[in-house]
Amino acid sequence: MSKIDLRSPEVEIREIRLNSITGFAGSASGLVDCARCGGLGDRKRAFTQCMSCSTSKAICTVSLIQDIAVISHGPLGCGARFHEYAFTYQVNGAKRGVPNPKQIRVFSSDMGEEDTIYGGAEKLRTAIREVYERVHPRAIFIVTTCASGIIGDDVEGVSNEAQEELGIPVSAIFCEGFRSRIWTTGFDAGYHGIVRKLVRPSEEKIPNLVNIVNFWGSDIFSKWFQALGLVPNYLTPYATLESIADAAKAVVSVQICPTLGSYMGAAIEQTCGVPELTEAPPYGIPQTDRWFRALGKATGKEAEAERFIEKERAEWLPRFEELKKSLEGKTAYVTAGAAHGHAMLAILKEYGMNTLGAGIFHHDSVYDNPSDSLDVLKTTIGDYGDVGNYTVCNRQEYELVNLLNRLKPDIFVARHGGIVRWGARLGIPALLVEDEHYGMGYEGLVRYGRRLLNTIENVEFIKNFSRHAKIPYSEKWLTSDPYTFLSEDGNGGH
Ligand code: SF4
Repeated sequence: MSKIDLRSPEVEIREIRLNSITGFAGSASGLVDCARCGGLGDRKRAFTQCMSCSTSKAICTVSLIQDIAVISHGPLGCGARFHEYAFTYQVNGAKRGVPNPKQIRVFSSDMGEEDTIYGGAEKLRTAIREVYERVHPRAIFIVTTCASGIIGDDVEGVSNEAQEELGIPVSAIFCEGFRSRIWTTGFDAGYHGIVRKLVRPSEEKIPNLVNIVNFWGSDIFSKWFQALGLVPNYLTPYATLESIADAAKAVVSVQICPTLGSYMGAAIEQTCGVPELTEAPPYGIPQTDRWFRALGKATGKEAEAERFIEKERAEWLPRFEELKKSLEGKTAYVTAGAAHGHAMLAILKEYGMNTLGAGIFHHDSVYDNPSDSLDVLKTTIGDYGDVGNYTVCNRQEYELVNLLNRLKPDIFVARHGGIVRWGARLGIPALLVEDEHYGMGYEGLVRYGRRLLNTIENVEFIKNFSRHAKIPYSEKWLTSDPYTFLSEDGNGGH
């Protein structure tokens, strides 16, 4: 297990810590085998389109904590995407059962050219004081950017001074975009900043409290946990400083996605002694069985878990079997972040669909907790078999469009809004489900199946739409080898 060092303000990047990569083409089983035997190489691209940035992932972990403020220490442009997290405040608060969530409060220190020459520390001090005066936050997170990282501003020093002066936690998060090609490093940096300033080991335990490392999906866990006599502690969207501190008192931590939760689960386990559940999230029938059994064992609720499994299976599996008759044999292509994409593959395969391929944004050879059973791709292959045309591709749309155009699946399943449009443009029914809890458990499998079927059956609309859509890629590119720009280094062959 990688060692979490909270004395250091910075997190080791995923390329080094987890041997994560962004370039691979081959089969899913080939990737898992190479990764697990330590022989995974990264195939570089000679050409790349734009990607994402770690700062937005760090903001994702902290911005919805209630009563806090975030300052991006850099030029205004680095904050161009921060408004995206405001939608979660408006739309998802209700789904989570948080009736009046606080509006996100994200600011920029607005570094200019002069600051990059003379240093931006003074500007950051001024920004922290002004934000404190204006919104009276209970904690402040400072998110670094390329500009403040390159000139070497002492962001940690300024944050610690401000903490002394204001008497509230002020946490520096080191997540500048150039630090890592794997933008999920930003999740780790955000969680590092949270744990080192807001979580302290505790002798006290809250019986039945279960930490859930998650994004902002709907509140499915309260209902499940009620049946098991457990209480969810959602980390960190809509959390309070108190509920985050309570993370140290929980009996176990679970995560809805090991890609997201890898660092947080390990950090709470190593610093506070709260064990992480080493079972991949509950997507697909066999994994849902395993997950509830593991949760029951970890919390001393084995009998309750067995009763819950029996009741849920009896209620939902007949409906699943009905849907399966319509979905079996349909073809699909998936694109998403790592573990969530693997979970989508499990759902499609559970329905007997033919997964023609997947374009997954990166691959972690291991997680911070290296348990095999947390590896969603390995579990999916073990339960349902291999996936061909498996690409690790950090959102290179030129590659994805080329592959989609060749494979022409019955449905294109994507996790991100910007990408799902390619399905519609190519006349392929496309499904975007933003609520990452939507397909979990037995009930989620049925919910997801209905959406898959509705999307596939709505093909006429998509075909009409595509007749009016323009594809910016030339015929020459669309008929070229999709991996033209992927080097032959590494282990993935094609
Ligand atoms: S931190 Fe760097 S990569 Fe991220 S938005 Fe700013 S300049 Fe771009």
